[in-house]
Amino acid sequence: MPTSETTANKFSGLKKTALSLCLLPLFAMHSTSSIAKDTNPLKLPELGTVASSSLTIEKEIRIGKAYKMMMRSRVPIINDPLLEQYINDVGLKLVANADDVKTPFEFFMVENKAINAFAFFGGHVGIHTGLFTLADNESELASVLGHEITHVTQRHLARSIEARQQTSPATMAALLGSIALVMAGAGEAGIAGIQTSLALSQQLAINYTRSNEREADRIGIALTAKSNFDPASAAVFFGKMAAQHRYSTKLPPMLQSHPVTELRIAETRVRAQAYSPVRLNPSLPFLLAKARILVRYNQTTDDAINHRLKVSFDANTPEHRMAHDYGKALMAVRLKQYDQALTIINHLRKTEPNNLYFLDTLSDIYIGMKQPHKAIDVLENYNEYMADNPVIALNYASALVEAKEYDKAITKLERFTTAHPENIPAWSMLVDANQKAGHRVQRHIAKAEHLALYGNFKQALKELYQAHNNIKNDQITQVKVQARIKQLRQREQDLKNLKI
Ligand SMILES: [Zn+2]
Repeated sequence: MPTSETTANKFSGLKKTALSLCLLPLFAMHSTSSIAKDTNPLKLPELGTVASSSLTIEKEIRIGKAYKMMMRSRVPIINDPLLEQYINDVGLKLVANADDVKTPFEFFMVENKAINAFAFFGGHVGIHTGLFTLADNESELASVLGHEITHVTQRHLARSIEARQQTSPATMAALLGSIALVMAGAGEAGIAGIQTSLALSQQLAINYTRSNEREADRIGIALTAKSNFDPASAAVFFGKMAAQHRYSTKLPPMLQSHPVTELRIAETRVRAQAYSPVRLNPSLPFLLAKARILVRYNQTTDDAINHRLKVSFDANTPEHRMAHDYGKALMAVRLKQYDQALTIINHLRKTEPNNLYFLDTLSDIYIGMKQPHKAIDVLENYNEYMADNPVIALNYASALVEAKEYDKAITKLERFTTAHPENIPAWSMLVDANQKAGHRVQRHIAKAEHLALYGNFKQALKELYQAHNNIKNDQITQVKVQARIKQLRQREQDLKNLKI
């Protein structure tokens, strides 16, 4: 995949300026004030998984989807195929061992230094890069994911909202109305959109109770152990989070929402002792993902990054050394020192020739050197038997575009987006390839799909109308575009009707 600038800006289609406004309140979904709620004689629903009355799973999934669309346009979600793959591999390994899984799960990363993780309806679990890079091993990361997964499987958010609804029935309608408004307003954006999202963020400041947190800790640790991660890592990680902010007056969001007290660390340690100790080898994928985040999704100076790479991977294991070298190669690419990057990657590929992280960087190096055909030569072989793999598909298509082989790139991307209709970078590339190839109608169609993923139906429909107006003697495309216009109108309407 291309360098960080293109990945972060072009591929995610973000407007970075709007981000900081809504981040913190959006994520402070549960807070320390919830402790008071525990003693409230007003009964909270029983913990567990009894079917809830008003909020069905089906509705949760629909709300979750709407929320994810809203997030895409408000928050710097990382659309990086390697990192997406990694976080979902770890997350889904845990989900496979969890009880009471009623929704699909989807994990994603957000570029944000604040130490935070959060879960929302429909199994959406987000991890900030700041939290990821604080973890020293995969088990520490898994312990946080296990905790968030448990909030979802135990339906803590649904219960919290329902409990609130009893005292304030308007809340939920207002919350969902805000989502719909944000959706409808996206695109015209500007001030109105931002204000709506702020109101929404405040409404989302939902408190988990202390017993919710205990339950998430308890079940989360069991889940971590069952999934063959080290259950002792949760206490270590909580301790690290507490230590990071011991002398800070302002707590990071994760600690506001998940207060790490000495008692909680001690409880977590005792819980972990119930399991046999686990000794794990360092996970190379974890270390490579961490190196990638440190270099590519970490807005700081080159010196600061080099320092982080040094201290993060100073352990004397082959995996740590490889991750350090990989980080160095990424730094060399960032500084356009392609010869140096190539030497490092070729060396790494001697041990791990099929490693996708190394292949991805090799492709970036050749493209940086203006030799896209060399990238195509390497990737073509992989494309034969891994055509559906996002890392291979996106790098291959990107190299084809660089080599001006537009039609081949478009065919590849059209197939890929059929199988992965929500892949943002693929739609961006398809817009670009069609633009460069002079395919006006197809460019409008791809642009419409890209906009629809951000919930911007109004602009998406405009693109489809333009596509429609430009079609000449092609009845099949005409019918397809008409059908898609109908579908998007329906989706826009469904969103407006989203009520509990
Ligand atoms: Zn929690």
